[in-house]
Amino acid sequence: MNIEFLGGASEVGRSAIFLKDEKNILLDYGLKIDNKKAQHPMPAHNVDAYIISHAHLDHCGFSPALYMQNSPVSFGTEPTIEIANILIEDAMKIAKAEHMPQKYFKRQVSAFQRKFVALKYHETSHYAGYNLTLHDAGHIPGAAITCLEKYNTGKRVVYTGDFKLSPQTMHKGAEVVKSDILIIESTYANRNHPDRNSLIEKFAHEVKEVVDNGGTALIPSFAVGRAQELLMILEKHGLMENTYLDGMATKVTKVVMNNLKYIRNQDVIESAMKKAHVVTGQKERTNALRGSSIVVTTAGMVEGGPIVNYIPRANRHSKIFLTGYQVEGTNGSKLLAGKPITVDNRKIHINIPVAFYDFSAHSGKDDLYKYVKESDPETIICVHGDKENTNSFANTLKEMGYDAHSPKVGDKLKVDF
Ligand SMILES: [Zn+2]
Ligand SMILES: [Zn+2]
Repeated sequence: MNIEFLGGASEVGRSAIFLKDEKNILLDYGLKIDNKKAQHPMPAHNVDAYIISHAHLDHCGFSPALYMQNSPVSFGTEPTIEIANILIEDAMKIAKAEHMPQKYFKRQVSAFQRKFVALKYHETSHYAGYNLTLHDAGHIPGAAITCLEKYNTGKRVVYTGDFKLSPQTMHKGAEVVKSDILIIESTYANRNHPDRNSLIEKFAHEVKEVVDNGGTALIPSFAVGRAQELLMILEKHGLMENTYLDGMATKVTKVVMNNLKYIRNQDVIESAMKKAHVVTGQKERTNALRGSSIVVTTAGMVEGGPIVNYIPRANRHSKIFLTGYQVEGTNGSKLLAGKPITVDNRKIHINIPVAFYDFSAHSGKDDLYKYVKESDPETIICVHGDKENTNSFANTLKEMGYDAHSPKVGDKLKVDF
């Protein structure tokens, strides 16, 4: 089998891995957003089947474009397609509003939706000489670790997509799948995350302090996964009574509520959503800003979304809680550096404090090595990490005796399958 890396290799974003065997199977087809501009993966030709690991844009965002030249059957979980549809619809709207060149049209979106086959975790699909099984990746609702097993050799390619081995409030942690060839994400191959439970306690305590002091706890959040995890944390700490949910996070949370078997602690999200004030207009936003309240909304890096409407109007007892990785140059990273943010080409100075919480949904360093050991592959391919991370991860794995690789975009690799 030949593996071609069309994107997401020695970089984070536009994940696209092309397996060329008796059939041509594409794993993910995502986008990379750099300085608000979308970067695409390399073109994929003669794709027979397409497998989507999960509904983050860096993995699924370019899916419809595949249907310009190809017409592959595609596989993923039910929440993946439902959330992907929301994100793709939104991306098309933005592209139209900003007069960006269209890379695909409504027809391709419909083709993508028509050709999608939803699989449950552990439900094996027999496809053209392969067994395809999806396993829980513990990352976001519906996120899957893909296992592709060849009938005649019994060999397995396992693609982790993004995964978190240790549990979150919403997920019980990724399943380890035995492999011969392991394609593994490397986002945090260089460091561990802080202890999750103490992080949650500290966060809940700090949020409560703001509410008790009459401020608004402004929590910018990614719409997919993070917002739901935060709502569950707030509910578990009795903080949902005056919590507002705004923007795209609301739509995605509704999909999660319709697919409860893909998460754990289902009763917690149900009770959280019963209490949440779902924002539908400016009046509720003004209410939320009266103080002693909490707002969970997009964008996670404060690049647009309702959050930029809240921040300049919050009272002086308020605080901003960043809850995930902030890419250099984004408003989120500017807030952390104490610099003014830019909204609609205007510079805005922020006078309220900013806190940072690393609620990552990715495995840290120790868990990546633990996964490798338990999955027990011969060949390991390190992807979805910057160049430094994937190189040093692969080098350490080589020293441990594995056949490890850290390809770049455009590279090809021949493996025994
Ligand atoms: Zn992801
Ligand atoms: Zn990713």
